[in-house]
Amino acid sequence: MATVIELPLETYQSIVEPDWCPGCGDFGVLRALEIAAQKLHLPTKDIFLVSGIGCSSNLPGFFHAYGIHSLHGRAVAVASGAKLANHELHVVITGGDGDGYGIGLGHFVHAMRRNLDLTYVVMNNQIYGLTTGQASPTTTKGHKTKSTPRGNVELPINPVALALVSGATYVARGFSGEPKHLADIIAGGISHHGFALVDVFSPCVTYNKINTYPWFKQRVYKLEDEQGYDSSDVQSALRKAFEWDPKIPIGLLYKSEEATYEDCEPAFKRGPLVNQPLGVDEGLFQDLMEEFY
Ligand code: SF4
Repeated sequence: MATVIELPLETYQSIVEPDWCPGCGDFGVLRALEIAAQKLHLPTKDIFLVSGIGCSSNLPGFFHAYGIHSLHGRAVAVASGAKLANHELHVVITGGDGDGYGIGLGHFVHAMRRNLDLTYVVMNNQIYGLTTGQASPTTTKGHKTKSTPRGNVELPINPVALALVSGATYVARGFSGEPKHLADIIAGGISHHGFALVDVFSPCVTYNKINTYPWFKQRVYKLEDEQGYDSSDVQSALRKAFEWDPKIPIGLLYKSEEATYEDCEPAFKRGPLVNQPLGVDEGLFQDLMEEFY
């Protein structure tokens, strides 16, 4: 039997203090991710965090593991590359709604239909926070923001519904005001074999004065508390995905076991690509390296 090493929570805490505004929802997500990693006994060497650009995308700097703060909207693409290079890593993408559901939307959809074994934690605050309060892809209709002073005229994206119809095999929603519940959902996503979306209500206390902690606290309820909810039924999950007001479900909406992209790719049968011979001689390898430098 494998020996399980209990690691203290501090194992996952960076020496870099988060620079988010006091009260930002992202603090709860960071704590939930630490708890999830501890719960799964993950060695930090096996975790790779990837982010794009935005307040929440600073998270990999505040978590003690490997990580990369990549380009705006490209976190899923970078994470896909990392996972394909070493599919034994736990690759977790952490970012915001503007980054992932706006500029990065194409990467997001294609990663889901491939069912890559990635966990995507989206800190959804329904606003662009880093750029000081413009409407994002999840800003609700009518919301007055810096870029929509007369009210947003666009419909918001529904990320969990989109995930359900795009092939994600683990679709969940959490709230940063419930970090222990969120930690369970994130742990479930990391241990799930396939693409996991965890969309998190993570209030921006500085620029979103509508979707606040009290606003969510009055509305969210846990699917786990609803008797008879079947998270293996995609039709039930879709119905839940469209519930919004007066009550909003959080928890695991949907989970299914399907072959992942990595399961189906013949090149991985011989182990992670990083451990396989390059197939080029040393001279050609050096030439390639010089060309890319
Ligand atoms: Fe958080 Fe909003 Fe401050 Fe950014 S601007 S750190 S999202 S509270």
